[in-house]
Amino acid sequence: MKVTQAEFTISAAGPKQYPEDALPEIALAGRSNVGKSSLINKMLQRKNLARTSSQPGKTQLLNYYRINEALYFVDFPGYGFAKVSKSLREQWGKMIEEYLKHREPLKLILHVIDLRHPPSKDDQAMYSWLKHYNLPVCIVTTKADKIPKTKWQKHLKIVKETLEVDPRDPIIMFSSETGLGKDELWLHIAKAASL
Ligand code: GDP
Repeated sequence: MKVTQAEFTISAAGPKQYPEDALPEIALAGRSNVGKSSLINKMLQRKNLARTSSQPGKTQLLNYYRINEALYFVDFPGYGFAKVSKSLREQWGKMIEEYLKHREPLKLILHVIDLRHPPSKDDQAMYSWLKHYNLPVCIVTTKADKIPKTKWQKHLKIVKETLEVDPRDPIIMFSSETGLGKDELWLHIAKAASL
């Protein structure tokens, strides 16, 4: 998809602040530092629209980005950061859970996983929760440029086995450095959002 317009819309603390224009929403979930902001910037061809390397765990809000007046990216707070307090973690869970279960315009969740390491316990919990609720997921394994191409399949296998990936879920190899996977990911998003 050709991105002609992309803007940050709102940091929403709850349903009252979610947009009401019913455009399809594509959510992004992943642990802190996995590369979600970099992925958003790469997909939207913008250097600094999503803040990269902001203090992990600090933004406990849903960040909305409107694209081409046609869809939204909804960036979840990164999970699995040890330093956030227990109550904050619980708050994170509640807000996300409520969004994922009830948000009608939600069309697809991009579950972003670091290709370099085996998925964490939090990654596993997130993925099995998404599957439990039958939500449409696309797994994006990022930072692929940090691994030699000859080892991609080995790492991919570990991701698949650790998460027990549903064979029907697409997995896209991605790099925010090189742009690998960008076109393929846009195809999946456009399809899910019926664009
Ligand atoms: P976030 O916390 O998930 O939003 O992660 P960021 O986008 O801030 O990325 C965390 C760090 O990983 C930053 O230093 C990025 O430059 C780096 N990074 C993210 N994606 C990639 C990638 O695809 N390749 C490489 N080499 N580095 C990446």
